[in-house]
Amino acid sequence: MKKKIKIQNTIYWSIVVTLIFTVLFIFICIFNQKQFHSFQESSQQYILCKDSVEQLEEGCDYLVEQARLYAMTGNEYYMDLYFREAHMTKRREHALKQLEEYFDGTQTFTSLKSALKSSGDLMSIDYYSMRLIADANGISEDSLQQEVAAVKLTDEDALLSSEEKLKKASSILCDNTYQALLVQTKANVANCTQSLLDYTQKKQNRAQIIFFDSFRNLKISTFLMVFLMLAFCFTIRHLIVKPLISYNECIRLGEIFPVLGAVELQNLAITYNQVYRENQQTQQLIRHQAEYDALTDCFNRRSFNKFLSLYETDAENHPFALILIDIDVFKSVNDTYGHAIGDVILKKVADYLKAAFRNNDYVCRIGGDEFAILMVEMTTDLQYTIKKKIDSVNQQLSLPEKGIPKVSLSAGVAFSDRENPGENIFEDADKALYKVKENGRNGCGFY
Ligand code: GH3
Ligand code: MG
Repeated sequence: MKKKIKIQNTIYWSIVVTLIFTVLFIFICIFNQKQFHSFQESSQQYILCKDSVEQLEEGCDYLVEQARLYAMTGNEYYMDLYFREAHMTKRREHALKQLEEYFDGTQTFTSLKSALKSSGDLMSIDYYSMRLIADANGISEDSLQQEVAAVKLTDEDALLSSEEKLKKASSILCDNTYQALLVQTKANVANCTQSLLDYTQKKQNRAQIIFFDSFRNLKISTFLMVFLMLAFCFTIRHLIVKPLISYNECIRLGEIFPVLGAVELQNLAITYNQVYRENQQTQQLIRHQAEYDALTDCFNRRSFNKFLSLYETDAENHPFALILIDIDVFKSVNDTYGHAIGDVILKKVADYLKAAFRNNDYVCRIGGDEFAILMVEMTTDLQYTIKKKIDSVNQQLSLPEKGIPKVSLSAGVAFSDRENPGENIFEDADKALYKVKENGRNGCGFY
C-alpha cells in the first residue's frame, strides 16, 4: 500500500532538520572561531616571544661590547653603560620573564634560561676584567660597582704590573673560554628561536588541520542542507502544490478532484467529491422536478410551453404536430373508483403514450387528465400514423385490468403546416379535440 504522508508530519520533520542544521552550523562556527583565535594567538605569541629572544641576544651582545670597549679604552663611560644595562634596562631578564609567561617548562624557556646562564658566566669574566682594569688604574674599591668590588684576583694576577693587568683584562675578553661562552650563549638563543618556531608551527599546523576539517564538514553540511531543502521543495510540490493546482483546474472544468498528495488534501478531495456527487444528484433531481410531472414522469406544463414556443419559431424548417389528449369522463372514474385508482390510470395512460410515440417526441401532462404530445418532424400527410397510434392506445386502454376500469382517450391534432391556421396551434388542436368530445369521444380528430 502506498504510504500516506501528512503535511503536519512533513512540516514537523522540516523543523527538526532545520534545527539540527542550525545547531550544527553554530557548533562549526564556534569551533572555527576558537581555532582561528588559537591560530591568531600563536602567531602573536610567536611575534612577542621572538622579540623577547632578540632582546635577550641584543642585551648579551651589548654587555660584551661595553665590557670590551671598557677594556680597550679604560673609559668609565662604557662601564656605566654596562651596568645601566645590567641593573636598569635588564633586557635579558625582561625577555626571560616575558617568555616564562607563555613557555614556562618548555624547551624554548629552558634554552633561553641556558642562554641567560652563559651570559651570566660571560659577565663574571667581564667583572674580572673590570677589576683588573680598576686595579691597574688605581681606582679605589669603594667607587667600584658591587659586582666588580666583590671580585678577588688570583694571586698570580694580583702580582702583575698595571700594564700587564690591562693587557690581561683585554685578553680574557677575547680568549677561547670567553669566545666559547659567547658561542654557547648564541647557540642557546638559536635553540630557543628554533624551538619557538617549532612550537608555533606545530600549533599553527594543528589549527590548520582542524580548520580544514571544519571547512570540509561545513561544505558537506551545506551540500546536505541544500539537498534536503531541494528534497523538501519537491515533497511540498508533490504533496501540496501539485494537488492544489489540479484541484483548481478541476473546479474550473467542473470535475471531481483526483485523490492525491498529502493525507489532508486526499481527505479534502474525498469529501469534496462526495459533496460534489451529492450536489450533482440534488441538482439533477431539482432539474427533473422542474421539468417533469411527478405522477406520470412525463414533461410538465412548463416544459411543454417551452418546447412549443421553441418549435413554433422554427416550424418552417422543422414541421411538427401538436396532439392534445384528454381522458374521457375521468371525473366519474375518479368518483366511482377513487382518486388512487384515478392516479394509476393516469400513469398507465402516460406509459402507453410514451410507448406508442417515438423517443424524440415530447409526451407531456399539461393538466389534470390532459396530455399533449409534440411530434417532431411531422407533416399533415402523415396524419394517419397519429390516428393509428391513438387508436392503438385506446385499444390497450379498452382492456380492463384487475380493479382498474377501462378508459378511453379523445385526441385533437393540429399540424404546423396545416391549412387555414387559427389563432395558434394550441387553439386549433383544442378545437379538434372539442369536436371529438362532441362526437362521442374515444377517437382522434384533426384540425
Ligand atoms: P370529459 O370527457 O369531458 O373530459 O369529462 P371529464 O370527467 O374527464 O371531465 P374533465 O376532463 O374536465 O375532468 C377532469 C378530472 O380529472 C377532474 C378531476 O377529478 C380529475 N383529476 C384531475 N387531476 C387529477 C389527478 O391528479 N388525479 C386524479 N385521480 N384525478 C385527477
Ligand atoms: Mg377529461
